[in-house]
Amino acid sequence: MSEKCLTSSSYLYTSESIGSSLFLSSLPDEAFKIRNIDTGEEIDLRDENKEIFSYKASKLIGTNDNFFKDRRKMNEALWEAVDRNDIDQVEKLINKKLFGNIAAHPNAKGLNDWNSLHMAASDGLADITKILITKGDHTDIDARTTMNRTPLHLAILHNHLDVVKVLIYYNADINAIDNELNTPLHYAATLGYNEIVSWLLSQNPKINIKNYLNRNPQDLSLNYKIHELFQDFIIKENLEYKPSLYTRTVFGNTLLHNSREDHVNRILLKASNAPRVRDLQTFNDRPKLRAAKMKKVSLKDMNFPIAKVGVRDFKVLMQLGKGSFGEVYLVEKIDTGSQYALKVLLKEKIMGSNLIKYAFAERNILLSVSHPFIVRLNYAFQTADKLALVMEYCPNGDLGMHISREQRFEEEKARFYASEVLLALEELHKNGIIFRDLKPDNVVVDKDGHIKLTDFGLSKEGLYEGQFAKSFCGSVAYLAPEMIKRTGHTRSVDWYLFGVLLYEMLIGTPPYYSSCRDQLFHNIQTGRLKFPKQVSFVSRDLIKCLLHRDPSKRLGSGVGDAEEVKAHAFFKDTNWSAVLSKSVTPAPFKYMRKVYKEISIEKIFALGGEFEDNPRLNGWSILHPSPESV
Ligand code: ADP
Ligand code: MG
Repeated sequence: MSEKCLTSSSYLYTSESIGSSLFLSSLPDEAFKIRNIDTGEEIDLRDENKEIFSYKASKLIGTNDNFFKDRRKMNEALWEAVDRNDIDQVEKLINKKLFGNIAAHPNAKGLNDWNSLHMAASDGLADITKILITKGDHTDIDARTTMNRTPLHLAILHNHLDVVKVLIYYNADINAIDNELNTPLHYAATLGYNEIVSWLLSQNPKINIKNYLNRNPQDLSLNYKIHELFQDFIIKENLEYKPSLYTRTVFGNTLLHNSREDHVNRILLKASNAPRVRDLQTFNDRPKLRAAKMKKVSLKDMNFPIAKVGVRDFKVLMQLGKGSFGEVYLVEKIDTGSQYALKVLLKEKIMGSNLIKYAFAERNILLSVSHPFIVRLNYAFQTADKLALVMEYCPNGDLGMHISREQRFEEEKARFYASEVLLALEELHKNGIIFRDLKPDNVVVDKDGHIKLTDFGLSKEGLYEGQFAKSFCGSVAYLAPEMIKRTGHTRSVDWYLFGVLLYEMLIGTPPYYSSCRDQLFHNIQTGRLKFPKQVSFVSRDLIKCLLHRDPSKRLGSGVGDAEEVKAHAFFKDTNWSAVLSKSVTPAPFKYMRKVYKEISIEKIFALGGEFEDNPRLNGWSILHPSPESV
């Protein structure tokens, strides 16, 4: 692959003597020439790279000729800073006042001709995109990747409307076409990104550009809504409307690719495997730099317990839950008939926001801890775009459902659940793990009525830092004061949340509850803790000790950890070894699981059919080239 930026690997010095700056004028012509070993092209540095001389003159690097190496390092540092979403660093690295001519350049290209702007756009980093455009020296807003895609194409392929707006604001070419003659609008329409389509249309794009399959963006509309947006645009702009010969059938809200043309294309595709394979590779439009880096995190840690299990081994019975990063389904393993809970995480979502380490944390914790009150991981596998965890299934719902069904629990029942949760937390802490996400939804009830903690993944510190104000409103009630203040937290945060859980079990709402988020924030930090009359003195006392706002004074914060909590009078009649051996009779509960509603596994994993046209799926194989092979 051709590497176009100036790198020590692809440019060969034709003379060693280039390093000596003192005698430049006395050197033979040859000394100023370098050759690109990919293209054979020769460049005379005196014409093309005047900067090398001013750079030397400014004595930034002394007498060693490391210009190319240094600038490459700077460019690599820039790519990494973009990857980390480190805005300050990006701004610094491209600042010529600080670094002179070795300053990193937003236009510098790496493998696949991706530059920093492509990365920022593809990762949805609107602020960095703006900085690269406004502070870079002649940043090329429409720089092309090897597939001829511009940053705008990439922002749309990954559904980042905010980046799209920044790019268009700074005059990116809204009608740019890539290798397959697709405009940004083609991708927005084909991927079903209604909001982006609607916004792009407000910017007056050309809507009649045809891609290599002779389709305009409207032909590719994934759903009816998008089709309508185009219709409205045509009417509003008074465009001459020529109905396309390409027909689609409305099916629910989606439009089927079932015209004669589609069938012919599919048959052609089947008849020869070659183009399909090539398609897959070309869609792999991300630079190797990133793939290599991610590989380090993933493949190394990735000894999945049983390798050969994959999508097709399971039948999906119903959806059990839905969180911010994935969905949980009840599945049945086809060969044994055993039921499991299958948690599916979208790679795109977790990679896009740098959450991959939390996904691995979840898997690793589930694997490493074996305890009666912690859910067991049976299998883990992956497909091109999803990660899947197959866990022990707990058929009796979660405590969130039980509380909402029963309003609140009697003290005895709350004590039963609390005692099992306490032992699970104790075990995690012994293993150096802070749960941080204890709340009723994450405590599931097994077939006998005992509990298990689930959800060890994504709701960890990393999230609280950047995002929770925006998207984690639902979880605000379960934040400890030190999490809100972001002063850092220790395992005693789990004892605070244990107090919150106990409060909610006994009273029916989390403490300090208000439906107004800001009020809730305020209450958690300074509000007075209130109890209804029916709550016993001993329960109040335990909750107060657990909800101490100063983490170091909280019950459980000392070296004794769980022992301190166990010793509280609330648990004076609890026989802890009986709890651990599950000899305590579970509290009766009223929760009943709904009847199954079978879901086809294709819906979740998009094995084929409709999704064949969706480029996103093809493009996701960078990390894990062969689905289920790991
Ligand atoms: P998220 O990270 O999206 O919150 P969770 O792992 O908490 O995902 O799962 C979401 C919901 O799915 C839970 O609140 C629970 O109701 C249900 N669930 C999760 N794991 C299991 C399981 N092992 N058995 C039964 N239900 C489960
Ligand atoms: Mg959860």
